[in-house]
Amino acid sequence: MNGYDQEALAKFRLSGKILRETREEMRNLVRENMPIIQVCEKAEALIREKGGKPAFPCNVSINEVTAHYTSPPNDERRIPEKALVKVDIGVHVDGYVTDTAFTACFNSEHKKMQSAAEHALKAAIDNIHAGMATSKIGGIIEKSIKNRGFKPISNLTGHSVGRYLIHAGTSIPNVTQISLAKVKAGEVYAIEPFVTLPEAGGRVEGTSEKTIFRLVKAKSVKNPYAKQVLKYVQANFRTLPFAERWLKGVVPSEGHHEAFKELLKTKIIAGYPVFVEISRKPVSQAEHTVLITENGCEILT
Ligand code: MN
Ligand code: MN
Repeated sequence: MNGYDQEALAKFRLSGKILRETREEMRNLVRENMPIIQVCEKAEALIREKGGKPAFPCNVSINEVTAHYTSPPNDERRIPEKALVKVDIGVHVDGYVTDTAFTACFNSEHKKMQSAAEHALKAAIDNIHAGMATSKIGGIIEKSIKNRGFKPISNLTGHSVGRYLIHAGTSIPNVTQISLAKVKAGEVYAIEPFVTLPEAGGRVEGTSEKTIFRLVKAKSVKNPYAKQVLKYVQANFRTLPFAERWLKGVVPSEGHHEAFKELLKTKIIAGYPVFVEISRKPVSQAEHTVLITENGCEILT
């Protein structure tokens, strides 16, 4: 058994319950033409109301945008008509992270691609158990997606989660891959197939846009406002990702821009590039967090 005690497991389960309820409420709420910032803020507010904390900013990734987009401050973008919208959310309870995602589909042409991600996730969950090689799980996901006539995104993976850790070290690929890693009983994993069209490139690449940030290394800074923002980040997010929106009011608004720029320039914080599919084809996603057991898994989300 990997090292989570009963108290830790109870926190993982509570984290997962909060996230499951939030996801189901968000499913009924996301609409075409809705401001993206409204989706992000609603999901994050629901998580807090239910007693959790967002483990990362709510990601709203539209069409070929695959991951790592959250609304920047004063975002004016809206969900376009006929969009395929991936909403990816995370909760932590005392640091214990769960992670889930769903795809809202407003284009009947892409319904099958939306359900292909859900079926691949279900196939992985139905088969996973302690001792299974991560490469085998990747193979199951790949086969399920290809059997439905679609293509997996090969360079995005699921991941083990831990306390204050969203990527705790082990990946679960979405394709067959050469790896000796095996999942163990007591470990907690997020499994997340990403699906695109058969003619697509089937990979993602980073763009220059960054909307989600993390603390890399705390160092001393001259700008007093930067110092204050850094202190706030350390106290509130530790190593977990955050959005610039979440820093509103930490320092007077006229000082915020310089302070944030200073923290980026000194590499105290860094941004995650927004990922897009390399051939700009639409992508769907489904995700659950599971606790591995001897004979299977417990779905936490
Ligand atoms: Mn996720
Ligand atoms: Mn994830």
